[in-house]
Amino acid sequence: MESAVIRGYLHVQADLFDNEIRFGRNSKSVSAGESLISFIYFDFSPLVNRLHYTIDDFANAHPYFKACSPQWQMAFVEHIEKNDDNKYMPSLKDIIKLQENYKNLLHRFFAFQGTYDDSRIREKLSEDEWIRTQACFARMSVETGDILHMSLDYLVSSLDECLMVEFIEVLRRKIHFKACKNCGKLFIPHRTNTDYCSRVFTPDGKTCAEVGYTQTFARNLQNDELLHAYTRAYKAHYARMTKPRKRVANMTRDEFEAWYEEAKQKLELAREGLLPADEFTAWLKK
Ligand SMILES: [Zn+2]
Repeated sequence: MESAVIRGYLHVQADLFDNEIRFGRNSKSVSAGESLISFIYFDFSPLVNRLHYTIDDFANAHPYFKACSPQWQMAFVEHIEKNDDNKYMPSLKDIIKLQENYKNLLHRFFAFQGTYDDSRIREKLSEDEWIRTQACFARMSVETGDILHMSLDYLVSSLDECLMVEFIEVLRRKIHFKACKNCGKLFIPHRTNTDYCSRVFTPDGKTCAEVGYTQTFARNLQNDELLHAYTRAYKAHYARMTKPRKRVANMTRDEFEAWYEEAKQKLELAREGLLPADEFTAWLKK
C-alpha cells in the first residue's frame, strides 16, 4: 500500500519591522540568518549510513525539522531510515547537497574582510546559476493581529522553501554576515567592530573571540614595547651626534642617518614578526 503524502508544511513568519524570524506559529523568534548559518555548518557526517534516526538528530541542523508536524517528523524519519524514493521528502543526500549549495553561495557573498557591500552581492548573485533554479511556492499573507509582532507569514512545504525564504529575507534586510578572522566561518556580528565569532574553538572551551583578542592584545603589547625600545635607542644615538662625550662612540651626521634608516626598517620587520624581537632590541643596544 502506498503511504499517504505528508507534506512538511510550516508557517515561517518574518517580522515586518525588525530582523526577527519565527519557524512555526507562536514559536520563539530568532535573528533572520542565524538558522541559515547554523545549517551550513551543521556536521551531517555522523548521520550518514545509520540504521535508526530520531527527529532530534536533526534538531540542531535547522529549526524546520523540530517545528514541522509530528506526523511529518515520523514520516521523515521513516523515509530517511528506509532511504526510499519519496519525491516529497528530502533524502539525507539531498539535504547535504542543499547545505553545500547554500554554503558556497553565502561564502561567495560574504567571505571577505570588509563592510557590507551591496554591489558585491549583486555581482555574485548575477553570476550564480544555482539560485535561479530554486523556486518557492509558499502562500504568503500578512499577519497584523499581534501589534508587537506583525509579520509576513509564509506557508512553506519543504526544507528547500524554508531555507529560500530565510535567504531572501537576509538579502532584503541587508543583513551582513562576516567571516570570522580566526576560524573563517560566517557569523552575524552584533557589533560592527567584531572580527571574531563566538563559536568554541579550542579543546579547553575558548571561543574564537577569546583566542583572537588575546592574540591581538599580545601583538599590540609587543609592538608597544618594540616602539619604546626604538625610541630610547633613537634618543641615545641622536645624543652621540649632537652632544659628543668622551666615553661613548660619537657619530657623525651621516653615520647617524644611516643608523636611523636601518633602525626604521628593522622596526617595521620586527613589528611584522619577520625579525625576532630580541634580535631587534639587541641590535638597538649596540
Ligand atoms: Zn570563529
